[in-house]
Amino acid sequence: FAITMDQLQLYEDLGKGNYGTVKKVLHKPTNVAMAMKEIRLELDQAKLNAIIMELDILHRAVAPEIVEFYGAFFIESCVYYCMEYMDAGSMDKLQAYGRDSPCTTPQAPPEDPMDTTQMPDPTSIQLTLPNPIFSGKRTGGVPEQVLARVVGSMVRGLKFLKDELQIMHRDVKPTNVLVNRRGEIKLCDFGVSGQLEKSLAKTNIGCQSYMAPERIRSESLNTSPTYTVSSDVWSLGLSTIEMALGHYPYPPETYSNVFAQLTAIVHGDPPQLPAEFSETARDWVARCMMKRPEDRATYKELLEHPFLVEDSRRQVDMPEWVARALEAKERASREKERMEVLGEKALS
Ligand code: ADP
Repeated sequence: FAITMDQLQLYEDLGKGNYGTVKKVLHKPTNVAMAMKEIRLELDQAKLNAIIMELDILHRAVAPEIVEFYGAFFIESCVYYCMEYMDAGSMDKLQAYGRDSPCTTPQAPPEDPMDTTQMPDPTSIQLTLPNPIFSGKRTGGVPEQVLARVVGSMVRGLKFLKDELQIMHRDVKPTNVLVNRRGEIKLCDFGVSGQLEKSLAKTNIGCQSYMAPERIRSESLNTSPTYTVSSDVWSLGLSTIEMALGHYPYPPETYSNVFAQLTAIVHGDPPQLPAEFSETARDWVARCMMKRPEDRATYKELLEHPFLVEDSRRQVDMPEWVARALEAKERASREKERMEVLGEKALS
């Protein structure tokens, strides 16, 4: 079926990307909540038609690790793209609150605080301590077991795109990894439409690059693209480190401008997972972050690596982790608002 604008009831904005705004909408005929992305493009009708036709492949992109596509249409020079609504948003917004969000349920505190016979097990006490965000210390990053679960889904999603649709993603980054309260992890925003890619390229100047060194070289020389699916493996490795740290691995404090950042990616040593992570996890990331594309692991090798094999044998309560990361994120945003009000009062 084809979706049209008059079937949609518009709700709040979910976020803003490099190319447009994403809104929550309700598809009235089916009563399905969707996320609608608006991409403003100054293109003629023929090119817009070509984009809508190319996006049609997305109806074949049905896998547990891929955000479902419902349909696209255009009005004037805007393309509207409707997809599955993921109610916990993207990993870039959750990762900073993840470390204090245990994936094991802490014991409830005793009803009578004086009754020590009811005291919880001391190992669970630390789980109920306030989030360090509020003590001014921001640890950030997701715990290793959650990280393994997230990147495992990413690899399966990327392998599906490559094997079943013969496409590479081209834009692997935590913003394009969406999560829901059921604990599902899915990829979105992959490059299916050549025409759309061409039209977006001109505006694509992000301040954080996830591009592999060979892709930065090829784009800066303006040569025809020489990169392949292994460039996505680099971006996957960099995204893994970002989710582990809770922030982009080349911080703006050190790399004061985009040029310095790109130079570090092309000429510097690749970033690594911090030492607090297991050797297995660190090795997995290092296999993604090889400077030479031909040295990087394939998706099959990444799935067969002990880091992901161990993950597939383990219970990880993702819904619990998502719920706690969302709570911590909401607390932090309330606290930020409170501080802003206090700041304004102090000034006036
Ligand atoms: P970018 O251009 O940086 O990739 P997008 O425009 O794709 O960003 O998305 C902007 C924000 O909107 C994301 O960071 C995410 O939080 C939110 N978002 C995107 N798609 C969805 C979705 N399907 N469900 C819920 N939130 C979404």
